Amino acid sequence: MKKNRKPLTIERLELSIYRLRRDGFLKPGGFITWRWSTKGKVYATLRFTVGEDRLTICTASWKPKYDIALTRTNCTTGGTRPWFKCPACGRRCAILYAKHDFHFTCRECCDLSYESKNLSDAWRLLRQSQKVQRKLDWHGPDGERPKWMHETTYQRLVERHEDYDRRAMVAMAKALKL
Ligand SMILES: [Zn+2]
Repeated sequence: MKKNRKPLTIERLELSIYRLRRDGFLKPGGFITWRWSTKGKVYATLRFTVGEDRLTICTASWKPKYDIALTRTNCTTGGTRPWFKCPACGRRCAILYAKHDFHFTCRECCDLSYESKNLSDAWRLLRQSQKVQRKLDWHGPDGERPKWMHETTYQRLVERHEDYDRRAMVAMAKALKL
C-alpha cells in the first residue's frame, strides 16, 4: 500500500446491471469484489454475493449488510433480461447509485432531498467516520495499520470507525424507510 495518499471524496458510485451481466458477475453463487477506479487508481471497493434473485451487499469481511433484489423480464428476442429492484422504492431499474456510502438506490431515491433528521444524522455520522478514516490513513477495508500507529490505538480507531459506519447505515435505512 502506498502511503500519503489522501482519502478521496466519493460523489456517487454507479452499479450497472449491464456491466455486471456483461462481465459475467450475475451468476448465482458468486462472491464478487467490484472496484471503481480512475486512471488505474481504485477509489472504492464493494463486495457482494450473488443469489438467484438477489445481490447481497457485504462488508469487507463478507458479512451481509443488505440485499438488492433482482427481477427479470422477457425479451422480445427470447431469453430474459435482469433488473435491479431499488431497495428503497422497489422500482425496476438498470442502474443503482450510492452517495457517500454503499447504500444503493435508484436515481430518484438517490436525488431525494437530504434534509430529514435521519439523513442529517446519517451524514453527520459519515463525516465522523471519515474523520476516523483520515486518522487511520485509511485506504479502504483492506488497509493496514499505519506503521507509526500503536496496535491498541489502531484497534480502537477501527472499532470506532465501524461503529460510526453502522450507526450511519441505520440512520440512512430509517431515512429511506427501509
Ligand atoms: Zn428508488
